Amino acid sequence: MIIRRAKPEEAQAIIEFYHDLIDTMKDRAVRPAWEKNVYPMLSDIREAAENGWLYIAVQEDGEIAGAVVINDRQPQGYSDVHWTVRTDAVAVVHLLASKPRLHGQGIGRKLLEQAVKAALDMNADVIRLDTLPYNIPSRHLYESFGFRYCGDLDLFYPDVGTRPFSMYEYDLRNRRKIFVSACLAGEHCRWDGGTNLVPAIKELVDSGKAIAICPEELGGLPTPRSPSECIGNRVVSSEGTDVTAEFRCGAERALWVCNNEGCKLAVLKSKSPSCGKGVIHNGLFDGGLVPGNGVTAQLLMESGVAVMTEQEWQESQTVSSASYQQSP
Ligand code: SF4
Repeated sequence: MIIRRAKPEEAQAIIEFYHDLIDTMKDRAVRPAWEKNVYPMLSDIREAAENGWLYIAVQEDGEIAGAVVINDRQPQGYSDVHWTVRTDAVAVVHLLASKPRLHGQGIGRKLLEQAVKAALDMNADVIRLDTLPYNIPSRHLYESFGFRYCGDLDLFYPDVGTRPFSMYEYDLRNRRKIFVSACLAGEHCRWDGGTNLVPAIKELVDSGKAIAICPEELGGLPTPRSPSECIGNRVVSSEGTDVTAEFRCGAERALWVCNNEGCKLAVLKSKSPSCGKGVIHNGLFDGGLVPGNGVTAQLLMESGVAVMTEQEWQESQTVSSASYQQSP
């Protein structure tokens, strides 16, 4: 089974999937509140597919086994909920469903995992959703996945009118990995084969909270290699070889990794022609520094990723730990 974005031309097959589900579940104690020709309508499905909000689980024989919509549209009434995270960066799950005869096979969980990936792509901080209070299987799925129950609230939907719904929220902020310079995590990728280990950064990587990348290696340069420094818009090795293309290639690949992992923060090695932020080596290979950013640091910042040097990050950790200890 694969999970993929639905195509607009599949809208008819997908609405039939929902209609089958409504028919099959109509006499069961736990059934969805959806109603044929009220919600979802073919136009709802088509709009979701056209906007890239709709994902479907498709079996080997082409049968649609499940579907979910994720977008940033919070239904009316969501503003009255006591959510656990205060943020405007919200993704909302709608119409999560799997084929009744395939219930218990983990399709709902896989669709939620896809929703998490999509929400990270949307730069959302949280995912929110609602379900009927008596829908215990769904509530169990959400709670075991890591959603927090945020109380019941009366909501209006055209298919069911006004009735209580149970509200759930999933905090994505811990799912968002930090991008770190690999040498700070203890990898021997520095130009001379050494590392710039910061144990706390290595711990982040070991615990799965950060991803370690060396842009220079990613750009195709070997380790060990000659040291390089920025001279204007070029990067040149101590032997005079122009390695600008490798540095740019490494930066673009690093940005791709950042986007793919949903990283909003990068902790990068200071002064490096790739990773340095604020000041970098001056191009004379004499240890001097000049204002500027490394090639990767510059590209990440231009692309909206917050960049900190390892010293800035360590100071920020000390400050948060001190304020935590002082709080009543
Ligand atoms: S490119 Fe960055 S990660 Fe790689 S060795 Fe240099 S400072 Fe470290």
